[in-house]
Amino acid sequence: MSTQTGKINVQTENIFPIIKKFLYSDHEIFLRELVSNAVDATQKLKALSALGEAKGDIGDTTIEVSVNKEAKTITIADKGIGMTAEEIEKYITQIAFSGATEFIDKYKDKSPEAGAIIGHFGLGFYSAFMVAKRVEIISLSHKEGSEAVHWSCEGDPEYQITKSDKKERGTTIILNVAEDAEEFLEEGKIEGLLKKYCKFLPVPIKYGTKKEHSKVDDKDVETEVDNIINNTNPAWTKKPVDLADEDYKSFYRELYPFNFEDPLFHIHLNVDYPFNLTGILFFPKLKKTLEVQKDKIQLYCNQVFVTDAVENIVPDFLTLLRGVIDSPDIPLNVSRSYLQADASVKKISGHITKKVADKLEDIFKADRKDFEAKWDDLKVFVQYGMLSEEKFYERAVKFNLFKNTAGNCYTFDELTEKIKPTQTDKNNKQVYLYTNNPTDQHVFVEKALEKGYEVLVMDSPIDAHFIDFIERKNTDATFVRVDADTIDKLINKEDALPSKLSEAEQNELKPMIEAVLPANKFTVAFESLSETDQPMQITNPEFMRRMKEMQAMGGGAMSGFYGNMPEIYNLVVNSNHPLINKAVHEKDEAKKKEMLKQSSDLALLSQNLLKGEELTKFIKRSYELILN
Ligand code: ADP
Repeated sequence: MSTQTGKINVQTENIFPIIKKFLYSDHEIFLRELVSNAVDATQKLKALSALGEAKGDIGDTTIEVSVNKEAKTITIADKGIGMTAEEIEKYITQIAFSGATEFIDKYKDKSPEAGAIIGHFGLGFYSAFMVAKRVEIISLSHKEGSEAVHWSCEGDPEYQITKSDKKERGTTIILNVAEDAEEFLEEGKIEGLLKKYCKFLPVPIKYGTKKEHSKVDDKDVETEVDNIINNTNPAWTKKPVDLADEDYKSFYRELYPFNFEDPLFHIHLNVDYPFNLTGILFFPKLKKTLEVQKDKIQLYCNQVFVTDAVENIVPDFLTLLRGVIDSPDIPLNVSRSYLQADASVKKISGHITKKVADKLEDIFKADRKDFEAKWDDLKVFVQYGMLSEEKFYERAVKFNLFKNTAGNCYTFDELTEKIKPTQTDKNNKQVYLYTNNPTDQHVFVEKALEKGYEVLVMDSPIDAHFIDFIERKNTDATFVRVDADTIDKLINKEDALPSKLSEAEQNELKPMIEAVLPANKFTVAFESLSETDQPMQITNPEFMRRMKEMQAMGGGAMSGFYGNMPEIYNLVVNSNHPLINKAVHEKDEAKKKEMLKQSSDLALLSQNLLKGEELTKFIKRSYELILN
């Protein structure tokens, strides 16, 4: 065969500048495309051989990638089916270029969204021109009697095709790297990209050699071995029955080498109808904070890494998980906004949500103790899921747990059943008492426990939203923090105690108490509590406090209205306490004032509200009182 020149069959004269500009937002993707083609060619050969259509022994099929810094080339060499001159004509120049024409017709007047992938147009091979000024294909087809060919193209519609003396079956792609892409020749660059995109490809990928150390007769021996980039047989491609728990854990470490904690548990996904999907999802230990994830779910397409930005593919709350999803059915060649609307993506995300709920319910049912032990690490995930996905909520109500101050766990139904007879308010609503800080609210928690009530610990940042949400879902439920009011007000008691203070006495005492309190912050009210309750206590009404919290979180429409709202607390005076009675009957005005001041300061102190100068004065006064 003599050298031939041909003209690529395309109307637009210069498509390459356009490809270069718009093909992918990430130029590095060329490597993924070319190595994938090499893998495909190898797999095709194996398939033909299995069918008896390819003769002889296939032999080693390792794909070799190399960089020559001096020659400024990157080479990808496979031992796959190869191409004849006719096939290069057909598959590379004609078909691919009709794809290019279609692509340009579509996009010449508008810039496609970043990430719009041309692989969709059958142009994977041409992504080579994003980094190369000249691309060469040297190929020998597996077909008997084939002649090796050498195709070369400089990124315009002209190309040359000539004979080659290649002896081995397969295809070698040589990229002559363009000036503006020389970064790809730098030390470690290509190896890094191979590790990113090709870590789990099904055919071995070799990049140079590496030194390996071993001990022979107690001596350190250094040997040079092939540097194989990939694990060709990753855990998610195997059957669950063939994997032990330890295999999943070691796969987790393989995925996230810089993570030192084992996952809580895993889900092995395996679907073949109505779409294809395999994968393994891991539940990491989540702390209370919704920290930014660095170890993300990785998306693969037939073992080729595609992205770890899976936001549009799985529901938001599932992005808290880790692991791998592999599906040839996720349309990777389209823009992100299109992806969200895509029917198969919706199905996939629905399926994953269901699987995750199944798994959690399974563990809950099979081993509740184990589930409860893991609850602190699961809680944020489950709550986030319930808040954001109705379908997940419907499943998760059955295993979402509420933990009380003693560490006992209840589902919402169990809890409701338990508190039904005792914890209702005046409107006969069920009252769910909670604390978001058992240490700070200790006095109130103790009081509630003393009376035999259940107090829940709800101290994660998501709990505030979650409480609102559960109340909206269960209109009979009302959540109140233990310090929202005195416990007898929060929970309806029919047998209210008679007050030992007359109304006249209350009216006389009230302005005196107001005078010893910081101005404009407290509403003073009398209540006939038990003698053993504290003489004075400060409460923080639930509704106002929630509004304040919402505003602090930068919350929505309310912020303007409540923005300048002062903090209002209630000071509840126990009209049955001996101390209050003593104060009423105290004749010495100075002494009376001191008693009231000391008591209200103690109440402030127990809510952590006594600060600065007032605190200093209080301490001084307390010492004097001890001394007298
Ligand atoms: P796609 O891979 O999406 O079909 P490409 O532009 O990447 O599109 O490749 C076009 C065609 O060229 C492939 O379908 C295949 O037939 C052929 N081809 C590309 N690379 C190789 C290779 N390394 N070995 C054999 N054939 C190849």
